[in-house]
Amino acid sequence: ALTAGIVGLPNVGKSTLFNAITQAGAESANYPFCTIDPNVGIVEVPDERLDKLTELVKPKKTIPTAFEFTDIAGIVKGASKGEGLGNQFLSHIRQVDAICHVVRCFEDENITHVSGSVDPISDIETINLELILADLETVTKRLQRVEKLARVKDKEAVIEFNILTKLRDAFEDEKPARSVEFTDEQLKIVKGLHLLTQKPILYAANVGEDELLAADQNPHVTKVKAFAEGDNAEVIIISAKVESEIAELDGEEKEMFLEELGIPESGLDQLIKATYNLLGLATYFTAGEQEVRAWTFVKGIKAPQAAGIIHTDFERGFIRAETVSYDDLVDAGSMAVAKERGRVRLEGKEYIVKDGDVIHFRFNV
Ligand code: GDP
Repeated sequence: ALTAGIVGLPNVGKSTLFNAITQAGAESANYPFCTIDPNVGIVEVPDERLDKLTELVKPKKTIPTAFEFTDIAGIVKGASKGEGLGNQFLSHIRQVDAICHVVRCFEDENITHVSGSVDPISDIETINLELILADLETVTKRLQRVEKLARVKDKEAVIEFNILTKLRDAFEDEKPARSVEFTDEQLKIVKGLHLLTQKPILYAANVGEDELLAADQNPHVTKVKAFAEGDNAEVIIISAKVESEIAELDGEEKEMFLEELGIPESGLDQLIKATYNLLGLATYFTAGEQEVRAWTFVKGIKAPQAAGIIHTDFERGFIRAETVSYDDLVDAGSMAVAKERGRVRLEGKEYIVKDGDVIHFRFNV
């Protein structure tokens, strides 16, 4: 399963946020594919469409879909040189599919900042630089091997050599791999290098509990937003402290608390949705009288693979996918009417599943 890693300097609010995640956490019994590990928190993906489908179909139960956040502790300056827990930190980042970078934007005299004052851009650059240096090392090592072959005009080596030098130049300018433009062909080779600064990233700006409503007036947030724009990255504003309080509430209590705060959606819910997108994930639904359920798939997969997410038998014996889009189904008001209107399609093996599809799989046992 794909996972997003939570990173950040010490004392920025990572643990507070991660605790909120595990407390709000999903029951792992529903999600047997999820990892059982204290550093992994399973989150359910909030989805209004699932509520609407439940209203329509009135099933016995409703099950949201879920994915994992991994808590990556212990970045220190000098990680790329293997100081402290540095190496371990980098190898943990290597294993995640996207990065959720928590940045301190709250002022609190009682909580020391590792570099003396709250300065989110300097924080971001500190971590980014460690990742860039680690990538520089990867690329330099690889270059040593490829260079010899490129000199004797080995065709593939020449192509890779050009890519590697382009990356090396970027790293030497302290720019991440994400910022370098490549063709699709080249990107395949870049992916094979498993670079840390090629992973998609978003920034979670952790603001004080009393600043949530007026976060735009927080100068630290403004700076993070400007920086992220240059990095093509999204910024989610969150108060880790508030989230840890929300995590202790359930359904109705949570809604009342959010109303009191004057915010329509909790920061954690926004963070979950944004991270889901960042990972390239999307949702299809199954909707029967027994159960209405959301399923996660990686964008771009075909119908049989999507069926295989429910059960390998579904994929092996796949015949077809009876599919209606969420919008068409809600418009129609029921599956029967959607069928009458010709909105339910019979899709075959080559069908590329779309976000929001409501699917009934037909298969041979
Ligand atoms: P970590 O080192 O990044 O994991 O940071 P922690 O989550 O342990 O937080 C460090 C300290 O900052 C703790 O004492 C938290 O209670 C506090 N903290 C976290 N978020 C906020 C916040 O939004 N406002 C304030 N005032 N304190 C916070």
